[in-house]
Amino acid sequence: MAKKQNKFKGYDIYTQAVHTGTDYDEGTGAVRRPLHMANSYKLPDDLSQVNYSSTDLLMYSRNGNPNQHWLEEKVAALYHADDAIVFASGVAALHALFWTLLKTGDRVVYPKVSYMAVYRLFHELFNKKFGVETVMVDMTNLEEVKKAITPNTRLVHIETPDNPTVGISDIAEIAKMAHENGAVLSVDNTFASPFNQRLLELGADFVVDALTKFINGHGDAQGGAILSNDLETMDRIRYEAQVNVGSVISPFNAWQIFRGAVTFPLRMERINQSSLEIAQWLEQRKHVTFVSYPGLESHPHHDLAKRQMKGFGGVISFGVEADDKTVEKFCAHLKVVTFAVSLGHDESLIFPQPSYDERIDLYPSQFHKGFIRFSVGLEDPQDIIQDLNQAFHAIGL
Ligand SMILES: *Cc1c(COP(=O)(O)O)cnc(C)c1O
Repeated sequence: MAKKQNKFKGYDIYTQAVHTGTDYDEGTGAVRRPLHMANSYKLPDDLSQVNYSSTDLLMYSRNGNPNQHWLEEKVAALYHADDAIVFASGVAALHALFWTLLKTGDRVVYPKVSYMAVYRLFHELFNKKFGVETVMVDMTNLEEVKKAITPNTRLVHIETPDNPTVGISDIAEIAKMAHENGAVLSVDNTFASPFNQRLLELGADFVVDALTKFINGHGDAQGGAILSNDLETMDRIRYEAQVNVGSVISPFNAWQIFRGAVTFPLRMERINQSSLEIAQWLEQRKHVTFVSYPGLESHPHHDLAKRQMKGFGGVISFGVEADDKTVEKFCAHLKVVTFAVSLGHDESLIFPQPSYDERIDLYPSQFHKGFIRFSVGLEDPQDIIQDLNQAFHAIGL
């Protein structure tokens, strides 16, 4: 895929979010580029040079579509990355990266606390189906990470802040350990988003972002991206995973995420502020057993978070002095906050993590009871706080 010239290179993230990937429509002069819902494109008269597995020529929508490419320009700009590939979901992006990088006999080191699909891919699938050696470690313990990275380690994958405990791991240190052993580092940056954390500058080789969450931000479209400056591997990912596995994004979803991304920095700025205010309120609320938010001084890795993040993001995990059923009741009593999975929407979202969760023992012990994941939205933070407070009262706390 030929690299596109970014006309707005060097501009601030707010300007890039508005302008990158945008242009006048060539046919009409419209100030918006169109949504191209088409499966195929006119072939050149001379077919002798056409490579049907390439993504360079617009030919068939699985090989790429214009709305995908415009979104790729925008997301690459937000990350200061040389290249981006956008997929049908965040998990499709994670899979595409792992599928392309790993082969039988390789070793991958991955975190104890991570997005569920990462756990499934490494704990159940890549190891059993393909003979990849998958090693789970506590990524917040650098000694443990160092021991796990051996010479046959091809990939170290981390997630910071992690889903769902909002733990922080040290990107620069882990990048150094990976590189010393000839491995590459990939980081899932969905929770922080490029507004708060630019990982390629900290030493990551690949970044994955679930665009479904903060970058789209409107709870209506699914997508994911891989960002990197390694153009050769990115082209292999296009060939091996996009074209030959087929996890391509639909033009309509790419169009929606492109539109959502325009306001992404503004939304993130607001979400950072509201989240800190709400986390501070939760911390002093009676019957709250813990609050995990990297912006709080009480977070075990607050200093590290301050070093590698600009703001602390929109996800707060906290504990309530209650059993699973009562926690469900608490969530169901909320009026401003929506009781649903996902995160990074315009609306605040709450999701209990029950004590019978199969991975509960992988989380630090304070998370074993009354654990709730909360994604702060764009509502007035005082309205959110009042809503949480009335739900506490509703369960007698
Ligand atoms: C949601 C999420 C994903 C997956 O994104 P989907 O679009 O749901 O596939 C990956 N990583 C993290 C940290 C997430 O929160």
